[in-house]
Amino acid sequence: MHDKASAQNIEIRHRERPFVRVIQKLRDAGLRPTRQRMALAKCLLEGPNRHVTAESLHRETQQAISLATIYNCLHQFTDAGLLREVVVDSRRTYFDTNISEHHHYFMVAEGRLEDVPDGVINIDMLPDVPPGKVFSRVEVIIHVSDDT
Ligand SMILES: [Zn+2]
Repeated sequence: MHDKASAQNIEIRHRERPFVRVIQKLRDAGLRPTRQRMALAKCLLEGPNRHVTAESLHRETQQAISLATIYNCLHQFTDAGLLREVVVDSRRTYFDTNISEHHHYFMVAEGRLEDVPDGVINIDMLPDVPPGKVFSRVEVIIHVSDDT
């Protein structure tokens, strides 16, 4: 009886293990780990850094999660400091799992962002900020086209 119960506990723990880290990350960020948030956090917050759009995640999740929910989750993750929003233009917003300050290449033809390596952009002259404002950050997006 006792053994059966512990076997069951072990089984539950094994089943939960893949999500333990994302659940903790969500909780640490003050977000309740709902099923959708856990699924998206698993796609985004484990493994190498990536740049995604709501649409690309929608495809990646085989449309199991509605686009509206994905948008909401991405903005909640961004507000909670888990992602960084990179707005290329009014039609293109990317979400970056690398939340450190860095610059981007934007591959126009492919609609893809790539990180510029650290320390290769030198900005040595900036204007004064308007009165009543404070400097926040400078983000460079280098648009690149195919060399044809
Ligand atoms: Zn990036």
